Amino acid sequence: MAVYDCIVVGSGIAGLSFALRAAKHGKVLVLTKQLSGAGSTHLAQGGIASVMDPADSVARHVQDTLTAGAGLCRRNRVEILVERGPEAIRDLVDWGARFTKATARVRALGVPFDLVREGGHSSSRIVHAEDSTGQEIQRALIDAVRRNANVTVLENAPAIDLITAKHMRPGQRENGPRRVYGVYALDVKRNRVEMHLAAATVLCTGGVGQAYAHTTNDSVSTGDGIAMAYRAGAAVEDMEFMQFHPTSFYNPGQPTYLISEALRGHGGVLRNKRGEAFMNKVHPLKSLAPRDIVARAIDAEMKRTGQPCMYLDMTQCGSRAELQKHFPNIHQHCLSFGIDMSKQWIPVVPAAHFMCGGVKVDSDSATELENLYAVGEASCTGVHGANRLGSNSLLEGVVFSERALNRILKSAPVRPDRRRFREWDSFKFKPAPETIIYSHSLELIRSTMWHYVGIVRSDFRLARAAEFLRVISRHIHEDYWSFSMEPNLIELRNLTLCAELIVRSAQRRKESRGLHYNVDYPKTSVASRHTVLRLPASSSRLRRP
Ligand SMILES: Cc1cc2nc3c(=O)[nH]c(=O)nc-3n(C[C@H](O)[C@H](O)[C@H](O)COP(=O)(O)OP(=O)(O)OC[C@H]3O[C@@H](n4cnc5c(N)ncnc54)[C@H](O)[C@@H]3O)c2cc1C
Repeated sequence: MAVYDCIVVGSGIAGLSFALRAAKHGKVLVLTKQLSGAGSTHLAQGGIASVMDPADSVARHVQDTLTAGAGLCRRNRVEILVERGPEAIRDLVDWGARFTKATARVRALGVPFDLVREGGHSSSRIVHAEDSTGQEIQRALIDAVRRNANVTVLENAPAIDLITAKHMRPGQRENGPRRVYGVYALDVKRNRVEMHLAAATVLCTGGVGQAYAHTTNDSVSTGDGIAMAYRAGAAVEDMEFMQFHPTSFYNPGQPTYLISEALRGHGGVLRNKRGEAFMNKVHPLKSLAPRDIVARAIDAEMKRTGQPCMYLDMTQCGSRAELQKHFPNIHQHCLSFGIDMSKQWIPVVPAAHFMCGGVKVDSDSATELENLYAVGEASCTGVHGANRLGSNSLLEGVVFSERALNRILKSAPVRPDRRRFREWDSFKFKPAPETIIYSHSLELIRSTMWHYVGIVRSDFRLARAAEFLRVISRHIHEDYWSFSMEPNLIELRNLTLCAELIVRSAQRRKESRGLHYNVDYPKTSVASRHTVLRLPASSSRLRRP
C-alpha cells in the first residue's frame, strides 16, 4: 500500500473539494463508504449562499449569519466564509458545476446566476441548480475527481480509527505533540482492515443525523469522523446544537424526505389530526414562523396529542397541475406514496437535519492534533454558532477545504514511514452471533435521542437518555472487542459515542439558546460560551474490557 501526502475521509462537498485542491500538490487518497448517491451533499435542494449581487453586501450576509447563530458564531470565521463566497462559487463552476443562470436582463446588471432568497437572508443570494443543487455539485466533483490522476478513491472503505502514536511498533514512539498518521479502514469487499498512512489526514465525514429516529440525513451520516477524532484525543465542540427541519414526509420504515419550507411559503397550513391550525396560537407568522419555532410547536403538539405526525394542508393552494408545476419533485414523492397534495393533507414530522457542532477546529480547519484536519459538517468552525443560516453549509465545505490545504502546504508535514506502524491487530476473530444485537441497539439509540434529546429537552429527559446510552455503549464496547469488524459495528460504535457527546453537551448548557431548548432553563444567559469535550486520558473507552 502506498503512503500518501493526504488522506481524505469522505466524498461530499468538503472531501472532494479538498481532494481536487490537494491533488495539484501531491498524491491524495479518498476513503469513502459510497462515492455517489450518499451523504448530505447530494441531498441539498436549496442551494449555496454567496454575495453575487452588487446590491447585496458581505456585511449583510455576515450579519444574517450572526443573527441566526444566536450569539455563538465566531465572527472572524463568518467573515472568512462570506468574503470567500464568490470565489468558492467560481471554483465549483471551474470543477464543472452548472448553476441556474440569471436571465439576460439580470446578467446585464452584473448578476451571473439566478439568485433565490431564503428564510433568514436579507437579500436574494442563494445560487442553485434548479431544485437539485447538491446533486449537481456532487456530480461535477465526482467527474472532476475521476479525471484526476493524483486522486485515488477507495469505495466501501469505512474508516474505523485514526492512527496515532499508540499504533507504533515498540521502540518507535516519539515524544512531542500528539500526531495523526492516517487511518485504519475496513475493505468491505475483501473483509480486511487496511492501514492507510499519510502526511496529513482530513476528516470530511459529514453529520450525525442517524442518531435520531427521524432524520433528513442519509444512512452514511453516523458521525464517524467526530467519534474518531474524539477517541484519538481531539476536542469536540457545541454538539448540543442539532438543527431539526420542521417538516419531513412522515412514512415510517422509509427513508425520510424533506418537505421544503417553500410549501408553507406558498400558503400551506400546519394542522393536527382534528384539523386545528395549531400554529395560529403560537406565533404571529403562524405556519410561516421561523424553523425552530415551527419544529418546537409540532413537537409539542405531537407530545400533547400522542399523534406520531402532524399535517401540512396544501388543498387550498392551487389545482393539482399548479402544485405539480411549482413543486415537481415533492409532488411526485407524495404521489408515489398515495398522497395527492391538492386533495389530501401531507403527513409531516420534524427531522434531525444538520449538526452545527463537531470536531473543534481553528480558522484553518486544523484540529488539536497535529496533521489532523476536519472540514464540512464533521467540523465545528463556529460559523453556524447555535443555529445555522440556511445554505451556508455547502459554502463552508468549499471555503474551509481551501484553508485546510493552505495550512498543510505551509506546515509541510512529512509522509510517515510505514515500518514504524503496526498493522491492524486481528484480535477479533468471530462474527457476531446475530445481527439483531446491532439493529436493536441502533433502534434504541435513535428512539432515545428522538424522545429525550430532541427538539425540547429537560434535565430529567437528558439524565434518562444518558443512563440508556451508558448501557448501550458498554455493550457496543464489548462487541467491538469481541466480534469481527463490519460496517454496522463501526457505525453503531460511532453513533453511540456521538449520541453520548450530544447528551453531555446538552447537560452542560444551563440555558436555552438557538437550537438548544431546555424547559428547566428557558432563558438565554448573558454570557455566551462554547461547549468543549475531550476524552480523559484514563478513559476505559480506550481499553479492552
Ligand atoms: C436533505 C438535506 C438538504 C440540505 N440542503 C442544503 C442546502 O440547500 N444548502 C446547504 O448549504 N446545505 C444543505 N444541507 C446541508 C449540507 O448538505 C451538508 O451540510 C453538506 O453537504 C455536508 O457536506 P460534507 O462534505 O461535510 O458531508 P457529506 O456530504 O454528508 O459527505 C460525507 C461523506 O463521508 C463519507 N463517510 C462517512 N463516514 C465515513 C467513514 N467512516 N469512512 C469513510 N467515509 C465516510 C460518506 O460516505 C460521504 O461521502 C442539506 C442537508 C440535507 C440532509
